[in-house]
Amino acid sequence: MSSKLMHVGIDDTDSLNGRCTTHIAYKIVNHILQNRLGEFVDYPLLIRLNPNVPWKTRGNGAVCLRLKSDNYTRIVDYVTKYVEINSALDSGANPGVAILAGKSVPEMIQEFGRRAMYDILSLEKAKKIARKFVNIEYFLYGNGQGLIGALAAIGTQLWGDHTFEAISYRLVENCNGTRKIDPSNVICISNKTYPNTFNNYDFTHNRVLVAPHGPDPVFCGIRGENPEIVVSALDMIKPEEELDGYMVFRSNQGTNMHLLNELDFGEIKPHMSGFSVCRISKNPTIIHGGHVIFEVEDDCGESIAAAVYEPTGITNIASMLRIGDTVEIGFGVRDATSKHQIVLNIEYLSVIRLEQTFSLSNPVCEGCKRRMKSEGKNKGFQCESCGYRNRTGQKIRIAEERDLKVGLYIPSPRSHRHLTKPSHRYDLTKSLLANVPRAKLNGSWISSL
Ligand code: ATP
Repeated sequence: MSSKLMHVGIDDTDSLNGRCTTHIAYKIVNHILQNRLGEFVDYPLLIRLNPNVPWKTRGNGAVCLRLKSDNYTRIVDYVTKYVEINSALDSGANPGVAILAGKSVPEMIQEFGRRAMYDILSLEKAKKIARKFVNIEYFLYGNGQGLIGALAAIGTQLWGDHTFEAISYRLVENCNGTRKIDPSNVICISNKTYPNTFNNYDFTHNRVLVAPHGPDPVFCGIRGENPEIVVSALDMIKPEEELDGYMVFRSNQGTNMHLLNELDFGEIKPHMSGFSVCRISKNPTIIHGGHVIFEVEDDCGESIAAAVYEPTGITNIASMLRIGDTVEIGFGVRDATSKHQIVLNIEYLSVIRLEQTFSLSNPVCEGCKRRMKSEGKNKGFQCESCGYRNRTGQKIRIAEERDLKVGLYIPSPRSHRHLTKPSHRYDLTKSLLANVPRAKLNGSWISSL
């Protein structure tokens, strides 16, 4: 028997009623390890895809397992059966499984993965690409929509920036109960391990961020820069209930990977994600709810509305923008409705150049040096003190001092998406050159009962 490198992509196994694709991956990995069916060559990947896809359940996550195995057929059989039996098929899940055998991932699949980060792709396209390769098998359940994410996860190898997440799982019988997590343990983890772990606790709103609230099997997840730190931080949670186990994923969470693509205004379509460098073309207004709306234009003079929402905590910054300011914005594109055109929902705002703004003031009386009073539109000015009249006088422009500063402004953790790069990670970004393509798995990357 010859050992084959296998890339197993899985997506769309859950629904809002429960279950979770990472949990399915955890169970499959356990089975493979316990039965010595293969050797993992990378951490399981948790790939977050375009967060603006309207039909996602929650965080648009897909997984990919990469392993060497002499048991190709047994693994394919196990994975497909496990996904079929354990997906939420009766409540809206449309799973897809893709399996690629071979050392390298074809460029076409890599490109599919890159596009899935910021664009909307069709199931037809996914099938067409998968059919092109004799070494790809795919399996569809329900309408099979999950094939898009499954193939994209295989195509995303995370050779550049990445993070890790240790996710712990509940016992089946506990999945409907509330998760009891002592906030003081989470604060302690944060104090001890930040910045090497992140998004554990929102100190502004006093909220625990490590645990979801739904009926899924995830107990909690700790995100960070390396596998060791996330496992040791997970250990400090000290849950009050018995857990099934945990697994460490390598991920694009916290990397802004969905915003890496520069979009021209001409190519922007609903539900895309990306970034643009543009100018403010209409001053901000604050609308009901405290959200801030303004317009931006590109070099071709095309304008689009942009919105900064109140929970981001950067509406005060956005409200200080003025026509002519140059900004770089990361955004997701909200679809048009009967009331408005498409809107760029801003995910980060980098102020690049501030336009000099002016205030207008009445001219000063030449004799007594006091500010004169306007006589009405185009009627000149009169000095209230000495009565001097200047019929042709004009308002004077006075250069204003701007309160806004050039710099990067990112939302508060409360409104972070899984992919949002927290401010401290701008210094921790892992570069392509600094990292070997595949991480060496440490001894404690998985644990189960
Ligand atoms: P969870 O985060 O809990 O795993 P989810 O938010 O990942 O849930 P899914 O149930 O996986 O939601 O649904 C996302 C669906 O969108 C999948 O069918 C996936 O194939 C598809 N999808 C992902 N990215 C894209 C994309 N760029 N274009 C079109 N479809 C996509």
